[in-house]
Amino acid sequence: MAHYSDTAQLSIDLVNTFDVFAGDDLLGTVRDLTDFAVAHGIEQLAATVKDLESIRRARPELRRALLAEDEAIAVVALNDLLAAAKPRPQLVHGSDEKWVFGYADPEGTVADRILAEAAGGALEEIRLHGVRRFNTCGSSTCEDVFVDRTRNRSRRFCSSDVCGNREAQRAHRARRAHE
Ligand SMILES: [Zn+2]
Repeated sequence: MAHYSDTAQLSIDLVNTFDVFAGDDLLGTVRDLTDFAVAHGIEQLAATVKDLESIRRARPELRRALLAEDEAIAVVALNDLLAAAKPRPQLVHGSDEKWVFGYADPEGTVADRILAEAAGGALEEIRLHGVRRFNTCGSSTCEDVFVDRTRNRSRRFCSSDVCGNREAQRAHRARRAHE
């Protein structure tokens, strides 16, 4: 069951490189993008300025698609992003050594390869679990996207150790202020 979470994780990580709340961009330079690619198993090429521009252009579209209320709208947008990234689907080894679909063309540009894997992985997540599993963090100071895989869709924060803790502390302080 591990592979689909890995594939959707790339799309989540990519969207979350832009902090919507603070306006900070973790992909500020070409070097940042190369590092991001390597960290996600895409490593043969160094990224270029054109790659960075493509990623920055596509990233808000990816975010909108993941958070679309209407599943059909999400799928159309992700299909478009996948097609624009010139994919070359093929079976590759997943993290648990099972065969999984890879979407990137190994000869493609860094941007195309990242976007192909991000869109393909997100489509796979929707096929298996539906678009409504994608959600934004419930913290008042974070807009990060996450995939909620709890049975009753009860997850509220992008990370329990950072945002979950912070909100728990806020709630605690608020309660104490009323005492
Ligand atoms: Zn958060």
